[in-house]
Amino acid sequence: MTRRTKIIATLGPSTDQTAVLERCIEAGLDLVRLNFSHGAAVDHERRIKQVRLLAQKHHRAVGILADLQGPKIRISTFVEGKVFLENDAEFILDAALPAKKGNVRGVGIDYKRLPKDVKKNDILLIDDGRIVLVVFKVQGSRIYCRVQEGGVLSDNKGINRLGGGLSAEALTEKDKKDLKIATSLGVDYIAISFPRNAEDILYARKLITKEKSKAGIIAKIERAEAVKMLDEIIEVSDAVMVARGDLGVEIGDAELPAVQKQIIHRARSMDKAVITATQMMESMISNSIPTRAEVFDVANAVLDGTDAVMLSAETATGKHPDKVIEAMGRICIGAEKQRSTQISRHRVECHFSRLDEAIAMGTMYIANHFNVKAIIALTESGSTPLWMSRIRSGIPIYGLTRHVMTERRMTLFRGVYPIHFDPFVGKASELYTHAIAELKTRGIVRKGDWVIITRGDSLGVHGQTNTMKILQTQ
Ligand code: PGA
Ligand code: MN
Repeated sequence: MTRRTKIIATLGPSTDQTAVLERCIEAGLDLVRLNFSHGAAVDHERRIKQVRLLAQKHHRAVGILADLQGPKIRISTFVEGKVFLENDAEFILDAALPAKKGNVRGVGIDYKRLPKDVKKNDILLIDDGRIVLVVFKVQGSRIYCRVQEGGVLSDNKGINRLGGGLSAEALTEKDKKDLKIATSLGVDYIAISFPRNAEDILYARKLITKEKSKAGIIAKIERAEAVKMLDEIIEVSDAVMVARGDLGVEIGDAELPAVQKQIIHRARSMDKAVITATQMMESMISNSIPTRAEVFDVANAVLDGTDAVMLSAETATGKHPDKVIEAMGRICIGAEKQRSTQISRHRVECHFSRLDEAIAMGTMYIANHFNVKAIIALTESGSTPLWMSRIRSGIPIYGLTRHVMTERRMTLFRGVYPIHFDPFVGKASELYTHAIAELKTRGIVRKGDWVIITRGDSLGVHGQTNTMKILQTQ
């Protein structure tokens, strides 16, 4: 059984050896994530080259996602790298205190506006909520806090406010520079961290277009206010990410499961892709098998309908990146066997305004109700396969395209498999035969199998799919 849910793995020191990365690709990695919170431009460039070489060697499309750091609000650094905060002690976050000057009484902050954004009685969560501070006074550059939940606090840990509302813009100066680097390296997706609303995404879109890039935008939902603006953010993005790390800190961990389901459901209904991220296989950073809780977490995300599941430290700095990918893949396949992931009553009562969308939906209806082995979508932009994959189905959707970027963009869509195919090679009258032959040589279909093919009359024009044909493999 072919896995439908896609796996994204963050690259890092643990995957830098070519042999390790190659094993990750063999284990079924679909997209890589470059984390722009760490590493320099040269690191990202080297990793991209390595991925492309290996992808070529294995005749595979591997998508590349650049994840911008965003305005993560962080404390600065301590004289000795860390301190121990006692419960009930006073601790000052001071925008005027330089780096490396922090001690047990207080520490600097990178985001200098923070004293303007917080007020008395605000609860600040540091290091994903491990340290809890309650603000009791704000004066000038200083935020005076009482330690509610103490412990070890080390350099550069992130700060969130319970309930959200810290107002930094989604693209920092560093992000704008990184966006230029990412587009010049030809990445397929750019993830925007901490967007507050649709404007933040539209602004990123403007910068990406200015660089003449066609990279898709992934909005990371990790702020309380982004959840309130969910639909307007999804509307202007190509995909969204349930960024459970920061989001859980802002809205509280107990709210997360319901919000994950809501985000996945809204994204799919609005014809967008969705990624579930953070701590999915956390224990495998060091262990060689996942915990049962992790098995259930990944499986539940699959049942919720996520397009992709993402690995962060598990692959970037973990002990056995390839084993994590393998285990995750196995869990996805197990979950996908459940019948509820394959049947759909979705959109049976819908009216479609676009012809290409109507064709995509009609195709899925037939695929789910007739003995079809595979769907072949001859596509320019990948939008027809994306629409198709919004409908639950057990039938694989092959996106055949001549554009490498479309191939790599489709690596994100659940149940969609990119195949490089140029419709202009060979006789027009033999187009269908050629397309089916592509699947036949890969052992996907055999003589007698039914396939559905979709295409546009004017081949090579985006948004023109108007034809659906049901054929038996010869
Ligand atoms: P990050 O985003 O790993 O870049 O912080 C994901 C998350 O917050 O869950
Ligand atoms: Mn985050």
